[in-house]
Amino acid sequence: MRYFSVDSLNFDESGMWSGEYRARHRWHLPGVECPRCGTWSGSGAYPSVDLSSLSEPALDEVRGPTNFEEYMRLVALVRPLLPADVPVKGGTSFGPMRGTAQGRFGPVTCYPPWELVLREDVVELLKSKGLQGIIAVRMELRSRRSTMPALYEVEARPLAKLHTDCIGEFKTPPCSVCGRPESYFLPPKRWLLRSAVPEGLDVFGIAGARLRVVSERFVETVQRLGPSDVHYQELPVG
Ligand SMILES: [Zn+2]
Repeated sequence: MRYFSVDSLNFDESGMWSGEYRARHRWHLPGVECPRCGTWSGSGAYPSVDLSSLSEPALDEVRGPTNFEEYMRLVALVRPLLPADVPVKGGTSFGPMRGTAQGRFGPVTCYPPWELVLREDVVELLKSKGLQGIIAVRMELRSRRSTMPALYEVEARPLAKLHTDCIGEFKTPPCSVCGRPESYFLPPKRWLLRSAVPEGLDVFGIAGARLRVVSERFVETVQRLGPSDVHYQELPVG
């Protein structure tokens, strides 16, 4: 199986789709003032994770980094509701996106550039073709156009790894005090670590980096619904 990362168009390329949305996830874990590794906040989202049972007002708003004790209290609340195989990290959002949308959306949208959004007919096609690991969460978007198709945010869980030989020295090490996972700047030339490719999945993310990876089967399937304003860049496996 070949794999590709999905990226938005470059800033100087004009796309064919006008769709835009303004939306936020339902819950947010703040960053932390860690006594060992300093003040930091990451990013990313698990839209499929429902934190409504916690009824915790501190998770309702987007806030700056919080003190260490408060952060660890919130992590202890959130951790049991996350899938066991993903890290919990300050700056992460949860639950469906809610907001407004306008314009026309192509089959696949990377807007903002770090998001992966699918039109409803794409989600249905991927599922009908038996693709695996498609976690697509319906976005709660209001639009003036009554015919606007529903949009789904893809949750790309960081299950794969890049090969250590391509990451280089620009790494932030993990922290055992606050639980911060290792992270790094994306190297321009990159490839997947063969032993860490999640077998059989058609969508996944990468530990430590904000990269959405899709399979060759995913690319071939969505292209049947016409062009999208995205680039696919092959990620070799080595
Ligand atoms: Zn720390």
